[in-house]
Amino acid sequence: MANSVLDIKVTRTTNSKLAQVDWNNLPFGKVFSDHMLVMNYENGEWGTPEVVPFGHLQLHPATSAIHYGQSIFEGLKAYRTVDNDIAVFRPDMNAKRFKDSCLRMCMPELPEEVFLSCVDKIVAVDSDWIPYKGGYSLYIRPFMFAVDDYIGIKSSDTYKFMIFTCPVGAYYAEPLNVKIEEKYTRASTGGVGRAKTAGNYAASLYPAKLGKDAGFHQLVWTDGAEHKYIEESGTMNIMFVIDGVLVTPSEESDTILRGITKRSVVELANDWGMPVEERKVSVEEVITAIRNGSLTEVFGAGTAATIAQIQRLGFRDELFELSPIANREFSNKVYNHLDKIKTGQIEDKFNWVRKVK
Ligand SMILES: *Cc1c(COP(=O)(O)O)cnc(C)c1O
Repeated sequence: MANSVLDIKVTRTTNSKLAQVDWNNLPFGKVFSDHMLVMNYENGEWGTPEVVPFGHLQLHPATSAIHYGQSIFEGLKAYRTVDNDIAVFRPDMNAKRFKDSCLRMCMPELPEEVFLSCVDKIVAVDSDWIPYKGGYSLYIRPFMFAVDDYIGIKSSDTYKFMIFTCPVGAYYAEPLNVKIEEKYTRASTGGVGRAKTAGNYAASLYPAKLGKDAGFHQLVWTDGAEHKYIEESGTMNIMFVIDGVLVTPSEESDTILRGITKRSVVELANDWGMPVEERKVSVEEVITAIRNGSLTEVFGAGTAATIAQIQRLGFRDELFELSPIANREFSNKVYNHLDKIKTGQIEDKFNWVRKVK
């Protein structure tokens, strides 16, 4: 591939919306920066990426992704550091996962270095959109979808890869109430649960709605075969502290998304000498640990929220009130530590941050 940052053509908007942004009120995912990156795949190869003014797409009604769902995405964030540098958190991991999603969804692989150059470029062009306020960041959404105009089931011959960005504040305003789901399934063994593909989220909407109607922000998914083992929660991986051990469902099952936030939490715990177990976690084990007081922390880990504390856990007819957030030493420490790495307040000793010029 001949692509490098330098090859990316930029057409700047003449109508910036930057001055209209209310920086104190940034609803997640509703404010879009001035530009977007587009790269087309046709005749068996990727074209040259281009940055153009943010705007609508014109699509053929038979656009394959709309009908058959060859559509994948990523989510990552850029931060403004205390030295006013721009830092993107672990984009190499997103590039790799995107490639894995391409493979599973029968889409042409995007080389990791191209993914990274495209992220660098869109962030650099819209760097004025990265908020200055603590806890705020620029959410980056790379995605790819099938664009053949053909009504027939086959993998598309043509695709679009795009990236846009959104300045964002905190994702969840409050600690979460979640419910262990024992009827519906997010993903089954051999399916596409490990891929960040559109249909997984469509499939989760109805069960999540039933959960919402019953007062829960999110569901905790269990395995599709027996509903006995915990998998993840909404668009976050789930983590527990039980008897001083950080416990989280193993990624060996291809039903669980391999989260970068979770991986970072595990790596920090290892570094701090905290015992970690990545293994099957049964619902029964968690309920027993709540009852006997050995479960001290429960939280979701994902890019949007980083660490989302879980306050109440619903299981069948019971609603368990979990430990006060202020007492959760490990997850509070992790949250602060990750924030400080991203914003350059402490040394990035794992080399997690990619600086954008
Ligand atoms: C994106 C996502 C996560 C979190 O992954 P991060 O890389 O930490 O953002 C977890 N579960 C699902 C289903 C997801 O889509």
